[in-house]
Amino acid sequence: MELLNDFNGKYPDLVNVFSIGQSVLGKDIWCIRVTNEKNHTRKSSCLIDGCIHGSEWEGGEACLYLAEYLLINFDGNKTIAHILNSSEVYLIPLVNPDGRQENVRWNENGVDLNRNFDIDFGRLLPKRGGVFRFGKLFGFIKIPYLYFPRLLGPFFGLFTNCGRHPFSESETQAMRDFMRDLGNNDFSFYVNCHTATHCIFIPWDAFKPPFEMTEQETNLLHYVLNWVGKNTEYEPISVPTYNGTRYYSSGVVMDWVFKEFRIPSFVFEILSTDYEPMMGHGKHDNLVHWMETTLPVFMYLLVNIDNLRQWRTPDIQPSLPEGVPPEPLQ
Ligand SMILES: [Zn+2]
Repeated sequence: MELLNDFNGKYPDLVNVFSIGQSVLGKDIWCIRVTNEKNHTRKSSCLIDGCIHGSEWEGGEACLYLAEYLLINFDGNKTIAHILNSSEVYLIPLVNPDGRQENVRWNENGVDLNRNFDIDFGRLLPKRGGVFRFGKLFGFIKIPYLYFPRLLGPFFGLFTNCGRHPFSESETQAMRDFMRDLGNNDFSFYVNCHTATHCIFIPWDAFKPPFEMTEQETNLLHYVLNWVGKNTEYEPISVPTYNGTRYYSSGVVMDWVFKEFRIPSFVFEILSTDYEPMMGHGKHDNLVHWMETTLPVFMYLLVNIDNLRQWRTPDIQPSLPEGVPPEPLQ
């Protein structure tokens, strides 16, 4: 919050800071809009967010890093001046502030917010979603996950709590309502940042997608994946796998955005694969390196914002500072 206010103080004509709603414990969910406020032409908008899983810090850090990169370079860099003259970049560093404070994946109710959206919601079967619908037991006992050992046959594995019904949580309600506002305002693409399977992936995560993608949509999303594979160290993944098998998730925000607004929508998993995202085991080290690895991805999407909104081939190459992307870590 200090940093966001600092940005706002230093760059009052480029920054607007506002709350989109509150967490279960009443913390504000802050959003920063970066754009040239003196330019009143019609603009495309996009949203990048982080920490929907509270233990996955890198997404939130990446939002702050990108904001600062755009602000510092607005005056001297033509590409960035063009981006901020023609688009509104919305960044929400902490979708799940309560979880971030406790350093846990879920929110204060023990719900995995990235299973609480209204898309193929609440699939219990382990290989079709692996979630259960639950509030707090007796109103105060959180049950964020259930683990069944292998001897229970096909029902073994980890199940996460997706909440009683779609949008049962104040954080997902705030995101839904905010994105519906963006939907009336040339919403062009969405990136939901996580830690740490070191990849980018695209819809569908759902076991049962509500419709087939068109060829044009499939081609564009794969074009982006190919670009990421060629130009960054991240793996381009169209079908998420875990321990070598296809895994489906239900109620995922990336899928919901694609269903609701029919715009390009991505999950970006920052950091190496050393980090264990479910329980939050692992180190958040080499942060500067990891932040630098995110810049090519964000800049590529930003320079192509109009192509993405209109489902045209995103073939504009971003100009990047020297040393970006950095050499992969050994
Ligand atoms: Zn995550």
